[in-house]
Amino acid sequence: MAEHRHLTIAIDGPASAGKGTVARGVARRLGYQYVDTGAMYRSLAYIAREQGVSWASPQEVAQLAGTLDFAFVWDGELLRIEVDGRDYTRLIRSDSIGMGASQISAHPPVRTALLTLQRDLGARGGVVMDGRDIGTVVLPTADLKVYLDADLDIRAQRRHEELMRRGDVLSLSDVRKSLDARDRQDRERAIAPLRCAEDAIRMDTSNMTERQAVEAVLQRIPEARRQQAIDSGSSKQ
Ligand code: C5P
Repeated sequence: MAEHRHLTIAIDGPASAGKGTVARGVARRLGYQYVDTGAMYRSLAYIAREQGVSWASPQEVAQLAGTLDFAFVWDGELLRIEVDGRDYTRLIRSDSIGMGASQISAHPPVRTALLTLQRDLGARGGVVMDGRDIGTVVLPTADLKVYLDADLDIRAQRRHEELMRRGDVLSLSDVRKSLDARDRQDRERAIAPLRCAEDAIRMDTSNMTERQAVEAVLQRIPEARRQQAIDSGSSKQ
C-alpha cells in the first residue's frame, strides 16, 4: 500500500471571503499546520510602523523582513503569530494595518523576502496556507487549490462584525469602501496579483455557513490524494 505524503493545500481569495476560517478548520480536521500569510504581511507592516520604517520604502521594509523570525503557534482554537517571540495576533487586525500590509506587499523585494519563508513552511506538506498568491506563486504545485470568493456586501458585513468585536468603530460603508480599495490594489499590482489559479476550485461562500465551507473543501481531499498518488507514480492498478 502506497504511503501518502501529507497534502499541501493552497487557499486564496479576496479579503473576508472566509479564507482564514476555512483554512483553520481544514487544518484542524486534518491535523495539518495552518500558515496565515496575510498575518506575515500584517505583522511586517505593524513592525515597520513601530520602528519608523516607511511603508513606501521597498528596500527598507524588505531589509526589516529579513531580520525577523516568524512563527505560528496554536493556542486552543486560535492560531497565534509570533515575531521574534512577541505575540502580534491581536495587534494586526485593524483596518489601517490591513491597508499597510497591502501597500508593502506590492513591493517586489518585500515579497521576495517573505516568499522563501513561506515556501519553507510549505515544503514538507501537511500544510494549509492561505493568502493571495499561494496557488499561483508560493506553492504552484499544491495538491489542492481553492479560490474562495463572496459577494462584496457580504464580505463587508463579515469584516464589519469582526472589527466591531475588536472595538474598532467604523461604519459599514467605510469598511466596504476600504475592503474594495484593498482588493483592487491586490488585484492590480504588478507582482503576484490576486487571481484564481487555472487549476483551482472556485467556491463562493456568500450563502455558506463556516461549517459548510470547511466541509466543501474537505470533500475534495480524497480526489486530491488520488491525484497525488498518480502524480508520484505510486498508484497501483
Ligand atoms: O489576508 P489578509 O487580509 O490578512 O492580508 C492582508 C494583506 O496582505 C492583503 O490585502 C494583501 O495585500 C497582502 N497579502 C499578500 N499576499 C498574501 C497574503 C496577504 O499580498 N499571500
